[in-house]
Amino acid sequence: MEKIRMKTPLVEMDGDEMTRVIWKWIKEILIEPYVDLKTEYYDLGLVRRNETDDRVTVESAEAALKYGVAVKCATITPNAARVKEYDLKEMWKSPNGTIRAIMDGTVFRAPILVKGIEPYIPTWKAPITIARHAYGDVYKNSEMKVPEDAKAELVVTDRDGRETRQLIHSFDTSPGIVQGIHNLDASIASFARCAFRYAVDTKQILWFAAKDTISKTYDHRFKDIWAEIYENEYKAQFEQLGIEYFYTLIDDAVARVMRSEGGFIWACKNYDGDVMSDMVSTAFGSLAMMTSVLVSPDGKYEYEAAHGTVTRHYYKYLKGEETSTNPIATIFAWSGAFRKRGEMDNLPELVNYADQLEGACFDTLNEGLATKDLVNLMEGLTPKCLTSAEFLKAIRERLEKRLGA
Ligand code: NAP
Ligand code: MG
Repeated sequence: MEKIRMKTPLVEMDGDEMTRVIWKWIKEILIEPYVDLKTEYYDLGLVRRNETDDRVTVESAEAALKYGVAVKCATITPNAARVKEYDLKEMWKSPNGTIRAIMDGTVFRAPILVKGIEPYIPTWKAPITIARHAYGDVYKNSEMKVPEDAKAELVVTDRDGRETRQLIHSFDTSPGIVQGIHNLDASIASFARCAFRYAVDTKQILWFAAKDTISKTYDHRFKDIWAEIYENEYKAQFEQLGIEYFYTLIDDAVARVMRSEGGFIWACKNYDGDVMSDMVSTAFGSLAMMTSVLVSPDGKYEYEAAHGTVTRHYYKYLKGEETSTNPIATIFAWSGAFRKRGEMDNLPELVNYADQLEGACFDTLNEGLATKDLVNLMEGLTPKCLTSAEFLKAIRERLEKRLGA
């Protein structure tokens, strides 16, 4: 078989620990034999980030904006223990946070559904994708303890020095607490555009929920900005595709989600997204089966697995032991990136390769061949537990058949 040609390189962001090992295996076993792989390589492994004072992360994000499609391996976000372990010059910031800020993007997380692994909610038949606004609100708050007999006010000073004041509360009967939060029209608009674009891209219904009945200025602003952008920029496209956008209250959305069949995108404010994404991903079964894509408002994409670097497995690997780490979400990051690149560059063979690669993963799992994390979740068949290397080989055999290679 002749290798599939690419036109534009993918931006490849390598990472850390067990996922870095699996990354290399995926390329060697499942990609390079079939695709004439073109990437612009950035090593986001912690060692290289430290050597470059984290410039490599910034450069990789800039490359993602330039080329339009990136694929990222999981990376360590350093804490105090990692600073020691890697002898770091500084406690470098989360690469995902840096990349998200540069791409002004929104993260969409979706589970990979497999026969035999049933979601905890029996009505859920199709994936629920969560989009979380990753700016502001309680994550950039300012908060204080307030003593008794003090009063708290909201004060806004405009550029001419004029003050607008509003009483929050007079703490006459008890001490208490106070919190100030904010958001930006521009960030809310970017979030909305990312979500509308992703809905069009994946032809799915889009929900957005907040609490505008209680928060008549703050949450209402979100609702209004979304409505305006929808009307002016996306409504016609949505109608043409037969998909729908609707706004509802957050508590109504939660009730509807639990009764739904899935198959839609649920856009959430920052805090709601933090909480609900953990609920939804747990209810779908396994962190190792969750994909993640960062989408910028002007349609640039960075694909990755939602899980981390699987440190515990890496230490086993370093001792020479075999591990049964699940590579599926990382494989789907690659297939997602190839499919998008293929669509952008009009390369149907590359899109087909992405489909067949995912198909080969499903074939393998449907035959009951799985990694350890999935074995306990599978019902209706007696699964066989494979090591990562054996599992990748099994996928390769099925991919080979599908591609007629
Ligand atoms: P993790 O790497 O996701 O692993 C947590 C546990 O989940 C693992 O110990 C393993 O459980 C299970 N697991 C996760 N992915 C798996 C897979 N592919 N196959 C099999 N089991 C899997 O999270 P963490 O241990 O909290 O974080 C480790 C490092 O990853 C940290 O340095 C963190 O900063 C980083 N991180 C990076 C990202 C990212 O780059 N997007 C995201 C999250 C965390 P068992 O040990 O029980 O087998
Ligand atoms: Mg959380």
